[in-house]
Amino acid sequence: MAGRASGSASTVPGETGGLASLSRLKRGWRQPKPSVTDSEKAARALRFIQCVEDQGSGWFWETDREGRLSYLSASIVDQLCAIGQDPVGEPLCDVFTVPGDDVSAERTLRFHILGRTSFSDYHVSTAAAADRSWSISGRPLFDDVGQFRGFVGTGADLTAKRRTEAEVTRLALFDSLTGLANRAKMQLSLDQLLARRPGQWQPLALLLLDLDRFKAVNDTLGHQTGDLLLKLVAQRLQRTVGDGALVGRRGGDEFEVVIAGECRRDVLADMAHGIVAALSQPYHIAGSSISIGCSIGIAIAPDDGDTSETLVRNADLALYAAKGDGRGTHRFYIAELLALAQMRRQMEDDLRQALPGGQLHLVYQPVVGTATGAITGYEALVRWEHPRLGAISPADFIPVAEESGLIEPIGEWVLRTATMAAAQWPAPVRIAVNVSPIQFARPTLPLLVTSALAKSGLDPARLELEITESVFLGGSSANDETFRNLKLLGVRLALDDFGTGYSSLGYLKTAPFDKIKIDQSFVRGLGHAGSRNAAIIKAIVTLADAMHLETTAEGVEAQDEIELIRALGCTHIQGFVYGRPVPEQQVIQQLSGTTVAVPTGVKVSRAARTRMLRTIWIARDGRRIPARLRDISSAGAMIDDFEPLELAADARITIEFVEGEPLDGVVRWIRSGRAGIALDQIFDFRSIRQLARFQSAA
Ligand code: C2E
Ligand code: CA
Ligand code: CA
Repeated sequence: MAGRASGSASTVPGETGGLASLSRLKRGWRQPKPSVTDSEKAARALRFIQCVEDQGSGWFWETDREGRLSYLSASIVDQLCAIGQDPVGEPLCDVFTVPGDDVSAERTLRFHILGRTSFSDYHVSTAAAADRSWSISGRPLFDDVGQFRGFVGTGADLTAKRRTEAEVTRLALFDSLTGLANRAKMQLSLDQLLARRPGQWQPLALLLLDLDRFKAVNDTLGHQTGDLLLKLVAQRLQRTVGDGALVGRRGGDEFEVVIAGECRRDVLADMAHGIVAALSQPYHIAGSSISIGCSIGIAIAPDDGDTSETLVRNADLALYAAKGDGRGTHRFYIAELLALAQMRRQMEDDLRQALPGGQLHLVYQPVVGTATGAITGYEALVRWEHPRLGAISPADFIPVAEESGLIEPIGEWVLRTATMAAAQWPAPVRIAVNVSPIQFARPTLPLLVTSALAKSGLDPARLELEITESVFLGGSSANDETFRNLKLLGVRLALDDFGTGYSSLGYLKTAPFDKIKIDQSFVRGLGHAGSRNAAIIKAIVTLADAMHLETTAEGVEAQDEIELIRALGCTHIQGFVYGRPVPEQQVIQQLSGTTVAVPTGVKVSRAARTRMLRTIWIARDGRRIPARLRDISSAGAMIDDFEPLELAADARITIEFVEGEPLDGVVRWIRSGRAGIALDQIFDFRSIRQLARFQSAA
């Protein structure tokens, strides 16, 4: 055989080898090159060849004019013989084939051989052992008179390299902390499941999970505890969903579950409930008991998408909605969520223009002292006049501003504008300014407040900053610093929307508040039979009194509520009953006369209604039909177009303002084809209102 016949060239006459020759070689670079004889050259070449062949890092080959192998290094000959191939004398292109169906590459290799042109780094295999692979390069050889003699070339083993690559890939597919599949691996699995041929196709569900309050644990108890917690979460999650599902970690505190063959919503909802319940049980780590929660978004293929990209996006939208619903819950994807997300993006783009375009202005709502009936101050509320859509509620655009970072310039503008306005009002009338948790987290807030006070000349004692409970969620010590600095400035602090958060009351003891603003939801329906709101307000007032804090009842609309609020002991009242928010000029007018406020709101309380035309779903006794919504309030709705369901007064029905999210209610009245529905629970119809606006604008 050629390979073996080439023999060994370990000793070359006249050479001593070793270090001596190496140092000579090195020195030789700088000196005039000594003349090298042909035999020396040949000897050196042989040494190099042998070195490469012995190390096994590469091999050599040579063909005759017809492309048949006339030489092949021993190592590769051995390999091929071991799998029953005797390569020498065979055409190169028959011994080495291009793996897979890469016909064009195969053709090009032949083309090079026939065309007598060089090639490099062709990945080849062999018919007898497809799992082995090599890379070969070669060039044509011509003799002194320019006659083609054949090809010479090199080869290298790729099998080992491929194995290492496979190991690297394996590592890259699993999350090193939890051992779960990582995002890349999950995507791969999802792609494979979705790419199945029609006959093997199965529906599947993707659940995206996000832990609630994980960041707080990480921040307060440290990363080691955070890591341990993630491991425990991974174990519980795996145990809860069982072997039938793929579980992965997307990164941070996000996990995902893929369930093949399941698309029944009730089954998936049960599973989601189970996961939320399991992950919300306390964890015991290093002597402390830790509680976190989890929110889940669910998308089902093929209805909600048939590519991994769409499915993940839609499950993510559902997750976002679940978090918006107050966390600790799950949501299924519905098409409206995509519309809402597109609307949010559009709103964000438009909002960038709002401040420079002069589209924002402030209005002021009076706050009235319960004992005297006098106006003690105003709350500044921002308004956005959208050039195309008209007035947009801050309840809709402030969250967008918070997510996009725009809240900082907007918040600064609000603070400066409100303090400038209030500086024109007679003392001691105060101004209350809402401060977003994002603004509060900036260490520069006290500086900004100082600057606004200095510029306007407003007495710090007349500025009240309203902060919601969510500033405590981060649990960071930077908060304490900000509280301290703000108090040093002499401004007042109010805890806004009290009762809607989910943190403990502990922070009331430490944070230096001057006032608690009791959320509107406790004032709503205060006078209604069976409402427990009065008891809740009483409890809050008792707590506040003990801590010498003022209390404002927010959202008081009806005159009959004023007496109730007074009786419960709230020190202040704010709401439509004493007037809606008004522009600056009207405040100055109001304050130039008597500051005693006159209640002008409705006499008797009733939930505010919004007109809204939209298709909804109603169901009764297992029958579900589309109907039309006419108006909506937090307590109920008026509908028509429901004939097939034969409703009558007192019938119990479910109503879906958003498809897939039924709310229970009862028919209160039926008149001329319309029905009034009272919902069992007060609900927040803000997102439906947003949606209706978007759809009518589209
Ligand atoms: P908030 O701070 O709780 O403000 C009170 C909201 O209740 C205002 O809504 C006000 O118009 C409304 N309201 C007052 N009395 C009544 C009533 O009797 N009945 C009803 N149904 N509503 C009443 P608005 O102006 O739409 O603001 C909504 C929310 O947007 C505010 O809630 C606040 O969280 C946020 N916001 C408003 N302006 C700003 C601002 O300048 N900066 C920040 N960060 N947030 C703001
Ligand atoms: Ca407020
Ligand atoms: Ca409030």
